[in-house]
Amino acid sequence: MTNTFASNWLSLDAALQHAYASLTPVTESITLSIDAALGHVTAEDIVAPVDVPPADNSAMDGYALYASDTHLSTPLPVIGSQFAGMPKAEDTLQKGTALRIMTGALIPAGADCVVMQENTTANHDTITVNKPALVGENIRRAGSDIRANTSVIPKGTLLAASHLVLLASMGIHQVLVNRPLKVGLMATGDELKEAGESLSCGQIYESNRTGTRALLAHLPVDITDYGIIPDDKKALEQVLSQAAKDQDLLISSGGVSVGDADYVKDIVQSLGKINFWKIAIKPGKPFAFGRLGDCVFCGVPGNPVSAFVTTQQIVLPIIKKMIAIACSKPLRQLTLSATLAKPVSRKPGREEFVRAVLTQHDDGEYVVHPLAKQSSGVMTTVTQANSYLIIPAEVAALEEGAKVTVQPFSLFPFVE
Ligand code: AMP
Ligand code: MG
Repeated sequence: MTNTFASNWLSLDAALQHAYASLTPVTESITLSIDAALGHVTAEDIVAPVDVPPADNSAMDGYALYASDTHLSTPLPVIGSQFAGMPKAEDTLQKGTALRIMTGALIPAGADCVVMQENTTANHDTITVNKPALVGENIRRAGSDIRANTSVIPKGTLLAASHLVLLASMGIHQVLVNRPLKVGLMATGDELKEAGESLSCGQIYESNRTGTRALLAHLPVDITDYGIIPDDKKALEQVLSQAAKDQDLLISSGGVSVGDADYVKDIVQSLGKINFWKIAIKPGKPFAFGRLGDCVFCGVPGNPVSAFVTTQQIVLPIIKKMIAIACSKPLRQLTLSATLAKPVSRKPGREEFVRAVLTQHDDGEYVVHPLAKQSSGVMTTVTQANSYLIIPAEVAALEEGAKVTVQPFSLFPFVE
C-alpha cells in the first residue's frame, strides 16, 4: 500500500479523536463481587439502597447532651453510657443531664449535640463542659453522606478503591459491570525469540507483548496471546483473520513501517481497513489504526520504546473508550507544569515524549531533567525515567528554566 498520509500525519490529539469517533464500546454486562470489581466499569447507575449513615450517630467519643446546658459551666450528671452497635437509648435525655457516648453510637432522643471528651472535665458521676457547644456539633445525621434512592456512582465509572468502599458502605456486595474487552496480542518479526529460549545469530528477544500486558494489567481485559508471528504473509493473514473473528481489539507490534518485510498494514487493509497510519509523535510515528471486521486494529511499531509509548498514549485511551468509560472527549493522562533543568534542541515537526526524571524541590516546585539517550531502541532510559517531558510538535528549542509540560508515568510517583 502506498503511504497516502505521509505528507499529512495526524497529530496525537487528532488521531485519538478520529479513533474515538469510530469506536463502539462494549454493551454486554456481567455481575461481579465488589472484591473482584476493581478496575471494571459500571454498566448502570448505582442507586443507594439505604441512608448512609443509617441513623444519627456520634462523630466523637464524648457526651451527648443539650447545647444550651453547656453555657452555664454547671456540672451535669452522666446518666449512662452508649456504645457503637447498641440499640438507641429508650428514654429521652433529660435536660441538665449528659450521656457518655462513643464514636458511632446512636444519639439519644432529646440530645442535640455531642461534646468531645477533650472539652470536658469528669468528676465522679458528673462532667463540666469547658467550651460552649453548638446545636448539631459532632452529630452525623442519618443520610448526611448518602440519601437512599439517590444515584451515587454513574454508569461508565471506572471503579477505583474509593468506589468499592462506598459500595460496601451501602451494603452492596455485587455490581453490574461491562464485560472485559477481548484483546489479542501478537508480535511480528522473523528475528524474534521468546525470553528463555536461546538466540541464534541475528535474533533478538521479543519484549513488546510483555510491555503491553503490563500496561493493560489494571484494566478489564481478557488477553489472547497469538505469540510471535514470522514476517510471512500467509501466517500473518491467518492470525489476523482469526483475531478478526474472536477479538474486540488486536494489538500487533512490528511490521507497520516502510521495510520490505512490513506486511502487516497491507494485510489489514486487504482484510479490513486502515483508517490512519503514521502519527506526528516521537517515538512511535508508524502507528497504524484500522479495523478487521468488528475487531479494532492497533499496529504499534516494533521498536520497544515506540511500542511502549504508543501503547500508553494511543492504545490505552482507545481501550478506555472501548470498555465504555463515560467521556465526552478522548481521555488523556494528567500532566503538570515543571521547570526544565537543562536546554533541549531538536528537529521540530512531531510531538515528542522525552524520557525524563521529575523531581520536586523543597518549596514544591517541579523540576524536570530530560535523559540523554532517547533512541527508540533504548529501553533502559524508560526505566530510569519517571515521566515524559512533552514537547509540542512545532517547538525546536527549549531554554533551561522554561516552563514545560510533564506527564508523570504514575499518578502518584515516588520521589526522593
Ligand atoms: P519493525 O517495526 O518490525 O520494523 O521493527 C523495528 C525494530 O524493532 C527492529 O529492530 C526489530 O527487530 C525490533 N522489534 C520488532 N518487534 C520487536 C519486539 N516485539 N520486541 C523487541 N524488538 C522488536
Ligand atoms: Mg519487523
